[in-house]
Amino acid sequence: MKNRPTGFWQALEAVPGTAAVDAEWKDRFGNDYGTAKAFIRPNGKLASSHPCMVQRGCGCEHEVVAHDQEDIVAVCRCERGCETFALQRSDIVVYELDRPALDTALAKVFGLIEETDAGTDLPGTTRLGVYSPYAGYRFPVYLAIQIEPDDFNEALDGLLGRNGTPFILLSPTRELCSAKAEKRLTDKRSGFVPLSENVGLGTKRKFRLVHPLDDILAHFLSSNLPSPKEGDSMVFFPTPPDATWRDVSIRFKDGHTVSVKAKTAGGVFNYTQMGMANKKNGDPTLQWGLLKVFADERGVLDWTSNKADRKNQKRRELLAANLRDFFRIEGDPFRLTDDGKGWQALFLISPDE
Ligand SMILES: [Zn+2]
Ligand SMILES: [Zn+2]
Repeated sequence: MKNRPTGFWQALEAVPGTAAVDAEWKDRFGNDYGTAKAFIRPNGKLASSHPCMVQRGCGCEHEVVAHDQEDIVAVCRCERGCETFALQRSDIVVYELDRPALDTALAKVFGLIEETDAGTDLPGTTRLGVYSPYAGYRFPVYLAIQIEPDDFNEALDGLLGRNGTPFILLSPTRELCSAKAEKRLTDKRSGFVPLSENVGLGTKRKFRLVHPLDDILAHFLSSNLPSPKEGDSMVFFPTPPDATWRDVSIRFKDGHTVSVKAKTAGGVFNYTQMGMANKKNGDPTLQWGLLKVFADERGVLDWTSNKADRKNQKRRELLAANLRDFFRIEGDPFRLTDDGKGWQALFLISPDE
């Protein structure tokens, strides 16, 4: 047990079944042992072997021989034939990685939306949750802990086969993810994050990111989010993932421009940037006109209003679709008024003063 990298993440890819006696974890965790041991717990089993503890000994696994509760020894079985040494019962308690605790702590540090079912049918692989940087963008995040490259590739095959859309794969280190494996991921606009390079171990089963999340996922995000662009098409609005229509406000600045807010995101956009320009002549669409009417009527359009043209029914549906495209918030941004005689915007809308 020498000359190999130690540390929390390295240990997870070195201990078969992520279960071992305390002495082995201690050796594998190295300097991380103090904080890392919070992530292992006894699994109710006793070990049948124990790492050689003899000074300049064989370095192999010694066989555990229990003569009785009080008399436990570790016997060398290799040709070096080094000394037999005594063990306490606590020395042969098997500690196993507390995978649910690890998964929960990782979901937290990456700010994932947790789901009820974390399991997958792939060995060593769990689904930690969903990463949603903006409304309408949801990417599943998986953690694969393997020891052999073949097993890692098998998990990768499984994930690529099951996910039609981009996802993020975390692994303890980049040891098992070959350049070829990483390319298979990026070809599908998916991302690989080696935890040893990005996540540090804190106390009390907490992690911290070593780099800002946007940097860690920079490549992944650039291949999955539209780049903010000027010009003649709809811009990307960074709606926060938990925003609802009630968090949105739209205020007209002039006939062609609105000031928009959705929680922490905001900006000033013209009708073209809002995706409401006529494709033929570049003029505002009828939906933009209807949005303006809603503003002038302070968000409520009823049939007694002379602006409640029957045609506005279809236009309202199209306007709802336009707004959903722009904000990527689900559901109808309008509701029937309580008297059923008109429509009310769920978002705040006001005219220029
Ligand atoms: Zn030995
Ligand atoms: Zn030996």
